[in-house]
Amino acid sequence: MEWLMLLVLGAGGGAGAYAAQRVRVVRAERRELAAELEQVRRVADQDVTVFGEQLQRLDDHVADRRLDPAAREDYQVALDAYEHAKREVARIDHFDQVSALVDTLATGRYAMVCVRARVAGRAVPEPTVPCFFNPQHGPSDGKVMWTSPRTGTRSVPACTRCSAQLRAREKPEVFTIGIGGRKVPYWEAGATFHPWSRGYFPEGQASASAMMWMYATPDIALMGGVGGFDGFGTNGGGFDGGSFDGGGFDGGGFDGGN
Ligand SMILES: [Zn+2]
Repeated sequence: MEWLMLLVLGAGGGAGAYAAQRVRVVRAERRELAAELEQVRRVADQDVTVFGEQLQRLDDHVADRRLDPAAREDYQVALDAYEHAKREVARIDHFDQVSALVDTLATGRYAMVCVRARVAGRAVPEPTVPCFFNPQHGPSDGKVMWTSPRTGTRSVPACTRCSAQLRAREKPEVFTIGIGGRKVPYWEAGATFHPWSRGYFPEGQASASAMMWMYATPDIALMGGVGGFDGFGTNGGGFDGGSFDGGGFDGGGFDGGN
């Protein structure tokens, strides 16, 4: 019977080792997920900060002007978006919440464009998807042809400034994320940052197909790596509401940390 006992003990030991290994794997996966969520949360937090700075510039812009009721209403939408975003970013414990947060910021940025339009006596633009190159630029105001060596030529929604830069063969200021010690365009930052694109480019909109190729391959040319940056041209369209933020865009990119 001794051999049988040994066999049973041996099998038990093997199962125990397997269970311990499984626990280690699950714990490692949880740690990895928690680290990814924390990185996304930091980027979201920085995005809220940038939004707050843009709101401050709008405040300076309208400080000594009388806002009509419609402008006041839009202004309140932007303020509410900021307050809501500040609260929500502190509570992020799931990737889906990031999508909701970027939606809130996009709504607030559109409201800011509306305030500026009303103050300037211009027509309020139709809501559009945010600028492809940097959603922090606010709503796009047309499509621009963008050529990259890896993805070919595509039509992407862009703000006035980015469209002009592409036409002048300059690099637009891209929303970047710090990954592994370097900054990459947000569309290269991996699945962790999908909540960003989902929020800014909802399904069913024209840009949804653009988002599919965006994640396909890294495009280091845009970041000044190998190859040339060769994006230019525009097919026009969109409103003529002027650029998003007369106070200038926020320079530099994001560093999601690592
Ligand atoms: Zn832009």
